[in-house]
Amino acid sequence: MSRLCLTARWVMPVDDEPISGGVVTVENGKILAVGKQSAAVGPLRDLGDVVLLPGLVNAHTHLEFSHLPQPLGEPGMALPDWIRLVLANRQRNDCNSAAAIAAGLRESRDCGVTSIADIATTAVSGNVTDDVPRRLAFHEAIGFSAARCESAFADVLQRSNVEHRSKNMTTTGFSPHAPYTVHPDLLERLVDEASKRRLPVAMHLAESEAELQLLAENSGPFRELLEERGMWDPSAIAPGTTPMDILRVLARAPRACVIHGNFLSEGDWNFLARERSTMSLVYCPRTHAYFQHPRYPLAQMLAAGVRVALGTDSRASNPDLSVLAEMRHVAAHHNIEPEQIIRMGTLSGAEAIGWDKIVGSITPGKWADLTAVPCEPQASNPAEAILFSNAQPTQV
Ligand SMILES: [Zn+2]
Repeated sequence: MSRLCLTARWVMPVDDEPISGGVVTVENGKILAVGKQSAAVGPLRDLGDVVLLPGLVNAHTHLEFSHLPQPLGEPGMALPDWIRLVLANRQRNDCNSAAAIAAGLRESRDCGVTSIADIATTAVSGNVTDDVPRRLAFHEAIGFSAARCESAFADVLQRSNVEHRSKNMTTTGFSPHAPYTVHPDLLERLVDEASKRRLPVAMHLAESEAELQLLAENSGPFRELLEERGMWDPSAIAPGTTPMDILRVLARAPRACVIHGNFLSEGDWNFLARERSTMSLVYCPRTHAYFQHPRYPLAQMLAAGVRVALGTDSRASNPDLSVLAEMRHVAAHHNIEPEQIIRMGTLSGAEAIGWDKIVGSITPGKWADLTAVPCEPQASNPAEAILFSNAQPTQV
């Protein structure tokens, strides 16, 4: 049995009020107690002038692109054109995806991230649940034409069979990629299979206006892209389809992450708010900024009751994998309470992927996934001290 008491200038449990000079007691890798210094029972280690936070949760990324030195293309480019660059990059096949994933995990840990929801295109090997960062692999499915549904479904099933379930953690999920790459029948089958196996689902939705145009009219830049690649199926999408049609299917999954949602309507937000026990929205702030989409209605979505978590998306559209940088971007560009922003990058992310019983807050019984961010000795508001600073995590 190993016990350690960590004390810091501030402890931010996230599910409770911040504690000045708080102590977190850790035993065998789990949090035993959280409280004031007088409550410490065991050897005390003083971390100094830092805010001790739960490990950050990246609710959406694609680690296979972690080798990229900079985002692909140019800021403000159209999404379909950027996807052409991603496909070309993948086809060059000059990268080792296992090495890129390992590099992404290391980078994430170094910037305070301890849990990652990753979109995976290859089978996961080895048991990853004991390592930090912990990784949930959402196995990506792509199959737009009716003819591709069967093989795309079989492929995902095969990859996801390398499934690890331990310590009440599900480390496998399904990711029907997006409405412009996934036939409605394939989406239904994946959601049904996820329900059967109690697995989470993640899907990119309403990311661009071109996507809404494809759904509504079967036309536009995404149709051109699909035709170019020999993937177009004129019967795949019924004209007049909306994101709500897809949200209704996703609502049947045990847990669903809706990625981006840049162009969702108020009716869609209200639906997500009603279904918040299982559905969450994942906002990728700097990727949203990279594509120069219209302003993200974050405050309105939160006010409607939507659970919003944060993701970095990949290094193909973002300079790094830092959730702390995403939180600071939100603080600089939106009028949201600092505590709410910290929650989005921790507990809300854990809730979104179904890991809130084990990580996401400094709570007795959860894993002691902790991140220490330096602060001024006189800092009186720990959330502000973290968000309005450039300090990087010193310990994870
Ligand atoms: Zn993505």
